Amino acid sequence: MLPPAAAAAIRATAGSPRAVRRVHARLLKEGLADLLSAPALLVSAYARSCLLPDARRAFDDAPRRDLYLYSALLAAVSRSSAPELALPLLRRMLSDDALRPDHFVLASLASAAARLRSLRLGRQLHAHFVASPYSADDVVKSSLIDMYCKCGVPEDARKVFDSIGVKNGVVWTALVSGYASNGCTGEAIDLFRSMPERGLFAWTALISGFVKAGNNTGAVGLFVEMRRDGVRIDDAFVLATVVGGAAELAALVLGRQLHGFAITLGFLSSMIVGNALVDMYSKCSDIHSAREVFGGIIVRDVVSWTTILVGEAQHGRVEEVLALYDRMLLAGMKPNEVTFVGLIYACSHAGLVQKGRQLFDSMKREYGIKPGLQHYTCYLDLLSRSGYLSEAEELITTMPYEPDEASWGALLSACKKHNDTQMCLRVADNLLELRPKDPSTYILLSNVYAVNCKWDSVAKVRKIMAEMEIRKEPGYSWIEAGRESRMFHAGEVPLDIGEEITRFLEELVSEMRKRGYVPDTSSVMHDLEENEKEQHLFLHSERLAVAFGILKSPPGSVIRVVKNLRVCGDCHTVMKFISEIAQRKIIVRDASRFHHFEDGNCSCSEFW
Ligand SMILES: [Zn+2]
Ligand SMILES: [Zn+2]
Repeated sequence: MLPPAAAAAIRATAGSPRAVRRVHARLLKEGLADLLSAPALLVSAYARSCLLPDARRAFDDAPRRDLYLYSALLAAVSRSSAPELALPLLRRMLSDDALRPDHFVLASLASAAARLRSLRLGRQLHAHFVASPYSADDVVKSSLIDMYCKCGVPEDARKVFDSIGVKNGVVWTALVSGYASNGCTGEAIDLFRSMPERGLFAWTALISGFVKAGNNTGAVGLFVEMRRDGVRIDDAFVLATVVGGAAELAALVLGRQLHGFAITLGFLSSMIVGNALVDMYSKCSDIHSAREVFGGIIVRDVVSWTTILVGEAQHGRVEEVLALYDRMLLAGMKPNEVTFVGLIYACSHAGLVQKGRQLFDSMKREYGIKPGLQHYTCYLDLLSRSGYLSEAEELITTMPYEPDEASWGALLSACKKHNDTQMCLRVADNLLELRPKDPSTYILLSNVYAVNCKWDSVAKVRKIMAEMEIRKEPGYSWIEAGRESRMFHAGEVPLDIGEEITRFLEELVSEMRKRGYVPDTSSVMHDLEENEKEQHLFLHSERLAVAFGILKSPPGSVIRVVKNLRVCGDCHTVMKFISEIAQRKIIVRDASRFHHFEDGNCSCSEFW
């Protein structure tokens, strides 16, 4: 048996890689490393220092393998970035060493199954658990609840929950959050209301569950209720979560209120709240405030830097992006993979090919980050937009990922723009083979084939569209004007203010025509007469929203619109005209990026 002093020495290394290696070396020298319980303690100590390979080696070097040893390694593995390693370990434990899992092992395995989202493994464990002598253990039950929720079956989690005699706060909270994040809002709220005690922890679980399920409006409503209930907010996390919800809703007025709360509650210097506010302001197209908040964060981490950098990139401020990157490196930060997405994206939207190429290379060479699909997509975008078509084609056919619809689509638009007929058709055929899902891809394909008189292919595209019953996802835009916020759907003029908006838009169009506007109907697919096509464009949702904004907001104020799809080419032209005629700054956040229209120009310089 290991002397208690030695055991204490191993435990005291808590999270320090150097300390644990030193203690291990000493134990080896003194011949104590193989004594009973030493290997298990070493495995745990290595794991706490994030040295999983060393933990594994200590496990393999152990003279005999008992339940404690397995338990230590399984706990480490299930928390690590490779929870799938738990499966072979379990098999080895059952067959090679004929050991039955105890409650510690079962709890670790359940959390590995939860992280792997493996319902099959989860159910197997549950069966083991029910048949084991530990079948009444509440810790395992609590892990099973979490596992079922993460695997998307909260109703099974409920059964385990109901089997627990005395339920503690952790179990209640796990199920509340599980219901909420699976979109079962009614159940989540009912369960939450029946909790014997509802502290900040439970509220946070409920609210972040709503945010995870995409129910941002609900999350914000709950936050307001929580404030009314007088719950003391002494942890920044819940505030950061709600700010995240406001960001996804692009609700600037609400975001500003939350910013106010953050000041009142004294969380302004908190990094996680600061990061969330920066993200919120940039998603709500108020990049100036984003910059201000970023400037006020005292201790910044890589997320802070990356959030502001990506924000600036989406707003097309490439010089700011590159300057931020330099400052970030000077501050001793190591960029992560998201930083590089922002950087290459910025270069792509500004056509900076050399810079983008250099960054793409340095990501691998200097920082050892393996480029993901998103990096390739941005880089590909950079090459194709800037007219480096053959290089782009070479990249798309050799990159280590299966190119998706968006990648081929970007390349196709580029060939079309640069009039490379041969390549256009090659790329189009590749794209068509993928059986794309996005209706606008089919419109693009059909246009490309029609221009090149490939009528069989045009017929094929139309046939697929009919088969798949493709209809364009309805476009909608959302605007906050003063205290009012409103949603507009394409082609639908709201009854109450429709006449006012239509009249205003007609006036604008006639002024635009005087200034040389010719409608570009190439994005309208329908077999319609030209004037009918123009009518379609006339009622695109962002135009309705902008008209509403100008009519309802004080002269000179900024118009901010959020759109679910990409802005079409014609609306882009129209927005530029409107910004000039109405003398308004118009900011549109579409599915791809931000456009800042001012005095007849757009910040995107026609890259979008
Ligand atoms: Zn449009
Ligand atoms: Zn633009």
